[in-house]
Amino acid sequence: MFSLPRLEYNYDALEPIISKEIMDLHHMKHHQAYLDKLNAAVEGGDYPNDIEQLLKSLSTMPEDIQTTVRNNGGGHFNHTLFWQWMSPEGGDRPGGRLAVDIDARYGDFQTFVDEFDSQSTGLFGSGWVWLLPNLDIVTTQNQDNPIMFGQEKPILGLDVWEHAYYLDYQNQRDKYILAWWDIVNWPRVEQMYDAAKANQ
Ligand code: MN
Repeated sequence: MFSLPRLEYNYDALEPIISKEIMDLHHMKHHQAYLDKLNAAVEGGDYPNDIEQLLKSLSTMPEDIQTTVRNNGGGHFNHTLFWQWMSPEGGDRPGGRLAVDIDARYGDFQTFVDEFDSQSTGLFGSGWVWLLPNLDIVTTQNQDNPIMFGQEKPILGLDVWEHAYYLDYQNQRDKYILAWWDIVNWPRVEQMYDAAKANQ
């Protein structure tokens, strides 16, 4: 059975960027709902108990539960990462090898941020924006994740579903995205980047 990860901060810790009300609903209701549906779908079956392995093996699962596992397993995987990519001590900019490589790829950090923002505001409907270990910025629809398509595990991602920002920002997704950079947990992103590079 997959279970809800504990947050490393309180629901009100990301205020004023993300309100306690959103965090409370997003973690305890939305994430929990993905888990409940995922667990119901895989119950009794012989499937990987690691969510990453489960999503990578989607195509081998019975067709009648593939969509449920894709949407809800994706929801569980994506949100588990998303919580780690934010911190009350977040913001500023990355350091280390990641900072050097972002500059080499994008010219400077602000150009990278602008490109990420542009893809985030441009994504139609519900989905996610990702930074991959090769430093490509890509988007997926719904609760899909790049690992479902044979791509690497993202080192950073932003939830642009309306449930992630509507209570605080209403229709102004661009304001949510701009504010979000102030809570990005760069030390965690750097750690994931270094781990991905070490495995290559
Ligand atoms: Mn969400």
